[in-house]
Amino acid sequence: MAKLGNTPAKTVDVADSYAVRLMQHLVVPTFVIDPKRRVVIWNKACERLTGVAASEVIGTNKHWQAFYEAKRPCLADLVALDQPEQLPEFYSEYAARGHNGLGFSAENWCVMPKLGSQLYLAIDAGPIHDEAGNLIAVVETLRDLTDQKRAEMALKELATKDGLTGLSNRRSFDQMLMSEWARAQRTQKPLALLFVDVDHFKLFNDEHGHQTGDECLRAIARVVSRHAVRPLDLAGRYGGEEFALILPEMSRDDACAIAEEIRRAVMALQIAHGAHGAGDHVTLSVGVACHIPGEADDAPNGLLGAADQALYAAKRLGRNRVVCSERVLAEFAALGSDNGPVSGQVPAAAPRKSA
Ligand code: GH3
Ligand code: MG
Ligand code: MG
Repeated sequence: MAKLGNTPAKTVDVADSYAVRLMQHLVVPTFVIDPKRRVVIWNKACERLTGVAASEVIGTNKHWQAFYEAKRPCLADLVALDQPEQLPEFYSEYAARGHNGLGFSAENWCVMPKLGSQLYLAIDAGPIHDEAGNLIAVVETLRDLTDQKRAEMALKELATKDGLTGLSNRRSFDQMLMSEWARAQRTQKPLALLFVDVDHFKLFNDEHGHQTGDECLRAIARVVSRHAVRPLDLAGRYGGEEFALILPEMSRDDACAIAEEIRRAVMALQIAHGAHGAGDHVTLSVGVACHIPGEADDAPNGLLGAADQALYAAKRLGRNRVVCSERVLAEFAALGSDNGPVSGQVPAAAPRKSA
């Protein structure tokens, strides 16, 4: 028979008690461990939630197997061990409610090996003490928040992703650019920005229809996003047929090389264009800018302006090319007129420290 407590004098025979019966039939999935972290109660709702029968875990300390594939502590174990410092290692969301007997709360994706499907569980674990203040048990209750979590994730996805291409939308792109700018200011590492614009895309739509235009944008988005390979790189849809790539800690030359790879990769797709005034295939123009923010430079406006002007120059110079903001000034100085080509640069926003 399961016992609570570790001194015979204080041992309470709980198995037949009214309270235990209540707990066993409680609709809230609940289990209880003793101070040696052996399971003493595993209620019906916990059996339903985990697919693990009480008979498989009672008297053992294998309760983790109901939730995870590899051995690790459950929240009740951390309460029994009084180790709130381990919460960040094991849980995505957590709160320790102090050392005054209130226990810990946490949320986590659990593998649920017996069920074969992941569940997002909200978990509360609280200690129970005897009159002398000795720990006699830890009660862990679980709530299945999988549906809410999935809905929250879907909403977040909707709020941050562009519906057509799946890239980051303009809003999350702007946020990320701000935070990468701030990071670059702290680290004094170069931040590179690419503006990628499809050439003669209005003509493409006119020639092939809007739906084919959408497919073309999706194909280009895949190419752009393939080039955001490092964890902090970010590919976004900046506007209709315009994409942008944030490349933190990247030199101007490396950013130009990536821009050129993107341009070539889209050419290699050989998407038929053929409208009057355009080439045979869809091409891109890319503007590249790269700055190390100055100390007082709180916003990336100069970087955005420089990438935009570089893109404008790429268009003026004949499209299907990469122009780097540093070269814009000289090339456009030589341009002189509205029509001419062109080796030249437009004033690359207020010149600042460039990498
Ligand atoms: P340029 O080479 O100078 O960039 O010429 P352009 O025709 O690409 O540029 P413009 O700004 O004149 O036209 C952009 C076109 O992109 C017009 C618009 O219909 C199209 N477009 C914008 N968003 C979408 C979209 O989501 N789907 C489709 N199919 N077309 C779009
Ligand atoms: Mg365009
Ligand atoms: Mg455009």
